[in-house]
Amino acid sequence: MNLEKYSMGIGDRFAHQGKAQLDALIKAKEQGVSIVPVWNKSFREHNIINTVPSDTRKEADEAVQIRDWTDSYYVDADHIGLKNVDGFIDSSDFFTLDVADFISEAPDEQALHEFISKQSKYIGTLEIPGIDSSFQVTAEMVEEIGRKFLTAIKEAGKIYRHIESVKGSDKFITEVSIDESDDPQTPVELLFILSAVANEGIPAQTIAPKFTGRFNKGVDYVGDLQQFTKEFEGDIAVINFVVKEFSLPSNLKLSIHSGSDKFSIYTPIKKAIKKFNVGLHLKTAGTTWLEELIGFAEAGGDGLDIAKEVYKKAYSKYDELCKPYAAVIDIDKNELPPPETVDKWDENTYASTLRHDLSCELYNLNFRQLLHVGYKIAAEMGEHYLNALVKHEKVIAQNVMENIYDRHLKRIFIED
Ligand SMILES: [Zn+2]
Repeated sequence: MNLEKYSMGIGDRFAHQGKAQLDALIKAKEQGVSIVPVWNKSFREHNIINTVPSDTRKEADEAVQIRDWTDSYYVDADHIGLKNVDGFIDSSDFFTLDVADFISEAPDEQALHEFISKQSKYIGTLEIPGIDSSFQVTAEMVEEIGRKFLTAIKEAGKIYRHIESVKGSDKFITEVSIDESDDPQTPVELLFILSAVANEGIPAQTIAPKFTGRFNKGVDYVGDLQQFTKEFEGDIAVINFVVKEFSLPSNLKLSIHSGSDKFSIYTPIKKAIKKFNVGLHLKTAGTTWLEELIGFAEAGGDGLDIAKEVYKKAYSKYDELCKPYAAVIDIDKNELPPPETVDKWDENTYASTLRHDLSCELYNLNFRQLLHVGYKIAAEMGEHYLNALVKHEKVIAQNVMENIYDRHLKRIFIED
């Protein structure tokens, strides 16, 4: 199973927007750019919403059938580990092995020595095609990288082999993710991480490193654009290098997690994937759920009431909702409108405050981030929320499609 050059992770919290999401990819295809969909959902999301992996499979199969999509599509068991992978095995054909929790766990000394001796040929001046400056690699550096990452990659090997033993090799796509870690990884670290991945026999087709800067949920990138660009291009060059060097799958590519809404890095990303002629996996999740709220607001009446109710409850449960996401949100509480104010808003005020349109003066990134992590509120509304999704399907679908096509796909993959 070979993942195509361009792919997009289109998480969908409540599993109602599959068709609208697919419509965006169909529109891209009409523009001559083929991007395959990957419906991703993590254990945490399933738990909060009270869904199971087979629900995601059902949504994907139905959307593809109804829209007559004949290209590939995948269902991603996102951020899984040995503890929770079993529930995903039947329904998924894409597995994101999350081993960030194992970073910096002390490796077995014998394994560490083997790792270090394997890298001895890279010690000294290392030139990687596509990177202007050379790297000075020392034995100490290699040892430090091994101490930091070897246990994590060995864990990825265990998860991979477990899935392989049940599904069979070549029946699924493997991603290795280390993005939910404290520090960004440098291109040199990525080189040796991928050496360890190859040693474990993991046929990784995507790798999700942590990049420099803030990837807050549902809002724009915050960080040094020049530094990001340098690192991103460095990572691509490293991948091109290791594919040959370590015999990893030739379609191995970068996966960008929390990839939705990072508008300011889309241009450097677009330039880099063109310059190096490489693929990309852009993983998104919550951006579609926010379009449901925007659609509700625009629908007015009982739709707008639901949008306001979600905000009111999210506001009152601020601490509970924000806690699990503390590392990936930056909310200025003083800039959150009080629910009494929001209660008086009309359709346009609510939709424009939430919609990620940086040119609109009503847009409020604090409001947007709180609602991004507030999907638990909608989950608790149960049938009331789900029935409203059906009732207001048309206006929501339009927003979901436009968001993915105009604000995401167009900016990264489609020619100007
Ligand atoms: Zn992630």
